[in-house]
Amino acid sequence: MVRPPTGDDVTAHDLARTVAACRDLIATRFPGDDDAGAAAMLLDDGTVLTGTAPEVLNASVELCHEVEPFAAAHRLGRRVRVTVCLHRERGGRHLVLAPCGVCRERLAVFGPRLLAAVPDVFAPDVVRWRRLGHLLPDYWLRVFPDDAAPAGWD
Ligand SMILES: [Zn+2]
Repeated sequence: MVRPPTGDDVTAHDLARTVAACRDLIATRFPGDDDAGAAAMLLDDGTVLTGTAPEVLNASVELCHEVEPFAAAHRLGRRVRVTVCLHRERGGRHLVLAPCGVCRERLAVFGPRLLAAVPDVFAPDVVRWRRLGHLLPDYWLRVFPDDAAPAGWD
């Protein structure tokens, strides 16, 4: 079980450079103007990891953009503190994709204080930050206090 974050020292600069890394990966991996997406995650040591979903022939086996940085954080033994996923549409606008239900479940190992980018209600290309705990208000683990507390879900 991964320990929950102890502090709230993610700065506006950290958030901005995580979003910038996500946009940079989209621009470098997918030059041009086609639809493309990527994710970026800020780790507890300040590293920003990025990733993008490989294209596959059968849509039922697609992965989320978040999977690559999520797995890399595990490989490195680091905690994810911030996650963002963006989709560039033709014309260059970057839509903010809130983490899907599966990714929310994966990210739950880092506790409810993890910050996730979600789209502004009126402007889907504007990032708003929400705690994972706000995205999972009735998280299932809460009924198991012995397991929930170490994970920060108590
Ligand atoms: Zn997902």
